[in-house]
Amino acid sequence: MSARPARRGDRVPALDVEAIRAQFPILATRMRGRPLVYLDSAASAQKPRAVIEALSRFYERDYANIHRGVYELSQRASALHDAARQKVARFLGAADAREIVFVRNATEGVNLVAHAFLEPRLGPGDEILLTEMEHHANIVPWQLVAGRRGAKVVPVPITEAGELRLEDIAERIGPRTKMLAVTWVSNVLGTVNPVHEIAALARRRGVPFLVDAAQAAPHLAIDVRALGADFLVFSAHKTYGPSGVGVLWGRAELLDAMPPWQGGGDMIERVSFAGTTFNEIPFRFEAGTPDIAGIHATGAALDWLEAVGLDAVHAHEEALVAQALERLSRVRGLRVLGRPRARAAVVAFTIDGLHPQDVGTLLDLDGIAIRTGHHCAMPLHERFGLPASARASMGVYTTPQEIDALGCALERIVARFA
Ligand code: PLP
Repeated sequence: MSARPARRGDRVPALDVEAIRAQFPILATRMRGRPLVYLDSAASAQKPRAVIEALSRFYERDYANIHRGVYELSQRASALHDAARQKVARFLGAADAREIVFVRNATEGVNLVAHAFLEPRLGPGDEILLTEMEHHANIVPWQLVAGRRGAKVVPVPITEAGELRLEDIAERIGPRTKMLAVTWVSNVLGTVNPVHEIAALARRRGVPFLVDAAQAAPHLAIDVRALGADFLVFSAHKTYGPSGVGVLWGRAELLDAMPPWQGGGDMIERVSFAGTTFNEIPFRFEAGTPDIAGIHATGAALDWLEAVGLDAVHAHEEALVAQALERLSRVRGLRVLGRPRARAAVVAFTIDGLHPQDVGTLLDLDGIAIRTGHHCAMPLHERFGLPASARASMGVYTTPQEIDALGCALERIVARFA
């Protein structure tokens, strides 16, 4: 797998979308008597048969608790669990599987860093730098620790086009800045942020940098060593894997120096009432029984995605986004949020005279599933003076015909109701 998305001129193998779709059983179902048009992959991606079968096979043949049993079945489950961690490390280009911490979702990964890494270093008047385009998952955990420590969260503004300017970040980094946390891809605007440049800036200024890759992992090849950040999080369920599994990647030396967050089984070395000592990383941060089968299926999802090829996925989705922007521009009164130069497979919009909720409900009558509301990004909507928007998001299985179906359905809705 390449460490970067395809560039113009690269030869990227075309993606056989019909062959891909055939691997997603849910895409053959009908909604309201119509073929399902699933345009909500940014909320959660559908699952290929490889993932569904990995999950059920694991329960049928390999299931036992891990790292505890001396018996063969437990050892087999443990070996598969360890292999899944290796797969995630490979997917992220991590130097060491010890840098991979399994959590429940991207949200929990941010919370872990906020509590175990940042809180002990945070004092009154300190600052945590975020951006106006963050998902609540990358805002609220920081606000919670800031509130406890008398520190504050400082948002970096975004432009009208929905982009970040490096100088706006640089300007706000000061001696009190203790953390910078930025989304790689906006879940509303689709903006692909220049996280490599931001990482270089953070490094120069000595500020720890967390990348929220929840919307990047399904679309872009990741290489944490080339990236140069300190922490990165993503969720398996947006990356064609099961729900209930998330990943925190952190530099080994930072994880090593962090105290535990949650206490319980597996994260300890020795427990006595006189005191407890803690396990090494990553286990120190994995208290209790994890989602054993889900983690195994996450490995299967990443194998599957790598076999499809992230360069091919990226090229496929780039074409779909261009088509969507053109098709939606023909719908009367429709305004797309933001005009970022680099946009992933997400298009949020409003339509004059129609509430986004109604747009979503009417599209549902045609079997078209989109997201409506604030998409867990209230500050971003506030920045654009909107209470809500509608959002179509695409995935590896999305077809040009589905984009056209969305455009046609919106035109019918506008003609009747706007
Ligand atoms: N960050 C971004 C950019 C997201 O889009 C999301 C989910 O939509 C999250 C974080 C949180 O993901 P999860 O709910 O899986 O923790």
